[in-house]
Amino acid sequence: MSEVGAYLERLLAVGEFRDYGPNGLQVEGRSSVRRIVSGVTASLALIDAAIDAGADALIVHHGLFWRGHDGRLTGWLAERVRRLMGHGVNLFAYHLPLDAHPELGNNAQLGARLGWRADARFGEQDLGFIGDAPGGGAPALARHVAQVLGREPLLLPGDGRAVRRVAWCTGGAQGYFEAAVAAGADLFLTGEVSEPQAHVARETGVAFLACGHHATERYGAPALAAHVAERFGLEHRFIDIDNPA
Ligand SMILES: [Zn+2]
Repeated sequence: MSEVGAYLERLLAVGEFRDYGPNGLQVEGRSSVRRIVSGVTASLALIDAAIDAGADALIVHHGLFWRGHDGRLTGWLAERVRRLMGHGVNLFAYHLPLDAHPELGNNAQLGARLGWRADARFGEQDLGFIGDAPGGGAPALARHVAQVLGREPLLLPGDGRAVRRVAWCTGGAQGYFEAAVAAGADLFLTGEVSEPQAHVARETGVAFLACGHHATERYGAPALAAHVAERFGLEHRFIDIDNPA
């Protein structure tokens, strides 16, 4: 188990990121691991599904502890921890290092599904991906994304220009929009949108596509867990707990 943690820390270059929560083993369970479950968020529903699946370890993108948390294990958080510890399930969480990994990360895996390849990175800690677009305008790209993700995105169309350069960053990366514009994007895709992005899209002409935080971050954790399972000869299963947000 500590072997898996050490391997993942090297693979994801965890030490190179400034993050909002601890990356790596967040809750220690039994010492030997045979079966891994992966998922997006360490919610109670996912933890219970992992226990039912007989998991020794759970690998997620969103763990339990974030900046601003005061350290108390009470209420819903206590219940999640109690469930994990009671069943000896190890919880590994990788946040920004998993967004960023050039092959197994959320951005790379989402890009692969959309047929987009990054030739450069942008934004804080180089988390944003940017590359040549497949052609067509923002509405055509939005339709393609809807088909791949099985979910209707919100399109702020910009000025209707042809999309030559497309930028993306999964999850709640709406704050990267201006950096994407500065990097030369004609369209920026992320999970979430806030009020200011509508104005920035109108005033810069760059289109903005909000596709769902969960929907854009479904692919990194299973890619990482499948890689680890293969490497260490373990069983792996991805469990998707639906989340409309
Ligand atoms: Zn996220």
